[in-house]
Amino acid sequence: MIPGDGIGPEIVREARKVLDAVCSRYGHKFIYSEVLLGGASIDAHGVPLTEEAVETAKASDAVLMGSIGGDAKTSPWYRLEPSRRPEAGLLAIRKELNLFANLRPAYLYQELKAACPLKEEVIGEGFDMIIVRELTGGLYFGERKTVEENGIETAIDTLSYNENEIRRIAVKAFDIAMKRRKKVTSVDKANVLDSSRLWRKVVEEVAKDYPEVTLEHMLVDNCAMQLVHNPGQFDVILTENMFGDILSDEASMVTGSIGMLSSASLNDTKFGLYEPSHGSAPDIAGQNKANPVATILSAAMMLRYSLDLDKEADAVEMAVQKVLADGYRTCDIMSEGCMPVGTEEMGDLIAAAV
Ligand code: NAD
Repeated sequence: MIPGDGIGPEIVREARKVLDAVCSRYGHKFIYSEVLLGGASIDAHGVPLTEEAVETAKASDAVLMGSIGGDAKTSPWYRLEPSRRPEAGLLAIRKELNLFANLRPAYLYQELKAACPLKEEVIGEGFDMIIVRELTGGLYFGERKTVEENGIETAIDTLSYNENEIRRIAVKAFDIAMKRRKKVTSVDKANVLDSSRLWRKVVEEVAKDYPEVTLEHMLVDNCAMQLVHNPGQFDVILTENMFGDILSDEASMVTGSIGMLSSASLNDTKFGLYEPSHGSAPDIAGQNKANPVATILSAAMMLRYSLDLDKEADAVEMAVQKVLADGYRTCDIMSEGCMPVGTEEMGDLIAAAV
């Protein structure tokens, strides 16, 4: 467990409460160790990530994290040089754990339809998709430089992928599709980019091992439009790092509720790091206002993808659904006629529903 900074400790506490409820209902025992990361680690050890924290994470089956970071304008952590700031710890632990696959589900709860910025006829029956984004290759990790040629400043970034990097993320996406509605939409820009043409070729090779899964290809510009035009068509979206960065934020926004969005980052074993998609919300930290649901749903993903406890994951997701259907809301998702609850009560209600 990495509680982290800001609202992190509050939301992780509630997720642990729900995991404890899973243990008592299904007769499991989880062994927890807690490590510091980000600002909390800077305060305790002077660095955003210690060797010991990495070793503890590596020795675990999975890591559940809150969020890290502080207010960039007021926190002393941001007066440190960039390599010693909270975010450097997060990037370093992702790298150490070789987390190359990022999963971001976008699910529209019928109860929260009012928060969805799309029109009723576009929402239709709702949507339930997951974006599988390659996280350690592509443009963000390629060679970059800024040079001056004939007095003109020129910046160069390199987008490269090799077939192995593409194959391992494609396998993840198809494995995930097998646990869902068995459809993969692979997103690229194959009409322009060589890296996308290789992407398409390798994804098609991987698809041959999954005859039950339907594969379609979509250009990234079209996908950006389709997400707000007909989001219900997607099950698993598979894409490279930069496209995934942009599309996963777009998909999140169409659900309308930042406090509900879970995420996972996986390596090529069952190991994963699970965390909410939102940040550490320093503006509401310590006030019992944070919505713990994104972290609780991240814990459900951990049950499903790292521990292979599918029915337990379903139980957590159904518990969240029930508590929403019963009308309980934290302030970020509050609407008329519903009952306002704080972080702790929300955790209690979901744990009881499990
Ligand atoms: P943020 O997601 O923390 O907050 C944006 C807004 O959403 C705020 O008004 C906040 O109160 C609200 N919010 C976020 N999560 C909520 C929740 N669970 N319940 C209710 N309201 C919630 O984004 P930010 O303000 O841009 O960043 C704050 C800090 O978090 C920064 O230091 C940033 O670097 C860090 N951050 C960390 C991660 C991570 O740990 N993976 C991700 C994003 C941002």
